[in-house]
Amino acid sequence: MVHTDKGTGVRTRFAPSPTGDLHVGTAHTGLFNWLFTRHHGGTVVLRIEDTDRKRLVPRSLGGIPEALGWLGIDWDEGPGVGGPYGPYFQSERQELHQRYAEQLVAQGDAYYCFCTPERLAEVRQERQAKNILPTGYDRHCRNIPPDEARRRVAAGEPHVVRLKMPLEGQITVTDLIRGEITFDARTLEDAVLIKSDGYSLYHFANVIDDHEMAITHILRGEDWIPSAPLHVVLYRAFGWAMPKLAHTMLLLGPDRKKLSKRHGATSIQEFRDQGILSEALVNYLAIIGWSWDDKQEIFSREELIEKFDLDRVKASSAIFDHQKLEWMNGYYINHLLTLDELTARALPFLARAGLVDIATVTPGTPAYEHIKDVLALEKDRIKLLSDIPEMTAYFFTPTVEYTPEVLLNKKQKLTPEQVREVLPAARDAIAAGDVADEAGTEARLDEVVARFGLKRGQVFMLVRAAVSGRTATPGLFETLRVLGQPTCLARLDAAVAWVEGRG
Ligand code: GLU
Repeated sequence: MVHTDKGTGVRTRFAPSPTGDLHVGTAHTGLFNWLFTRHHGGTVVLRIEDTDRKRLVPRSLGGIPEALGWLGIDWDEGPGVGGPYGPYFQSERQELHQRYAEQLVAQGDAYYCFCTPERLAEVRQERQAKNILPTGYDRHCRNIPPDEARRRVAAGEPHVVRLKMPLEGQITVTDLIRGEITFDARTLEDAVLIKSDGYSLYHFANVIDDHEMAITHILRGEDWIPSAPLHVVLYRAFGWAMPKLAHTMLLLGPDRKKLSKRHGATSIQEFRDQGILSEALVNYLAIIGWSWDDKQEIFSREELIEKFDLDRVKASSAIFDHQKLEWMNGYYINHLLTLDELTARALPFLARAGLVDIATVTPGTPAYEHIKDVLALEKDRIKLLSDIPEMTAYFFTPTVEYTPEVLLNKKQKLTPEQVREVLPAARDAIAAGDVADEAGTEARLDEVVARFGLKRGQVFMLVRAAVSGRTATPGLFETLRVLGQPTCLARLDAAVAWVEGRG
């Protein structure tokens, strides 16, 4: 899976935390990383940031890479493929983080803090109430002489390691999408790098690992902007070159509120189960917050790689609209997938609904060809693959159910007596030829229409209801053709019997 490096040396990382299913917002950031890197012929690193053991959801350790794989977002280094900068699970890199923390303490850029949680809470409350900057920790332990601090650590006193943030001045972060973002140092507290249990805090691990993995560009969500100054101070303390930074936008719902369950599916797995195609989801995510010329919306993967770069990424918030995604999915289904591709995607959904037996349906078999014919009829109405079983069930079930709402439906404007007369006549007209010949079937039904002095729609609707058990189907004659002569006749007979049975 290693892609040729065009010599640009671009190395990016996608660093999801395994705290649940892959969220569509995280996937959006991952996709931007991937497109940017593939565009520049660089190397994609997947790093699993699993240091927060309390929030860890074990199934997501496998689920996130699997969801990325489904989207076609691959990685050149990381879980499953290895690479020269491993391990790629952050929890396996703790020793490294601790060593670097020791280095910062030794060089005077970090210090041991022995404050109790109770003291910290009190201080925080007081500073917040009086609005003393920074409103968090008061740097109480910052000036403990190093020897004394080491003695207390050696004696086993509980402690954390904190970074010495500048006390004044400004910290400027250069963002490739947003330009310069400046922070007032007085508002920033001395952040904890290593917790009392010896584990590194998230930001510290993140910075160390980016450096150690030789990352050149960091693309991440805008919710990480507030921690950017802390990262800048860490890079400075170590004397490391800072990777280039770019913060993408958070996804919002159409109501401009943070995207959540209220708006519909939020995890990649949910979209897959609904029958969103990975191509459509990738295409749609790519045009949220990025545009090529403000017009084109449909892009193949290759085209995205060719065209995507950060200069056309917008910093304004990005709306995720489920309806638009469904429209795009429908477009892919109707125009961009071949019928064989659509059949392959539809099969698991039909099988799960018990409508086909996947084991017996292979290309070339009559059952496979039948599914293809059905999909050819319906494909311009399909928005989600999960719609297919309900939309097409009557093509696969041995019989259909009749109700007065269907066979005696109001739209056909026929009295029950008329239905009893017209239905057998329509049945005979269909039996007199073969539904494979659409024009012939139509001509024979037209004779029935003329004989009873009715409108075409009245007779056609009745036949439609009889063969499908529904009042809406694709065009009648193509529907009859795909159902096939034996099924049409069996259902017409059953419908005649049902009508007669009602006396
Ligand atoms: N682990 C972080 C997340 O899940 C990644 C932050 C980053 O990319 O720096 O959002």
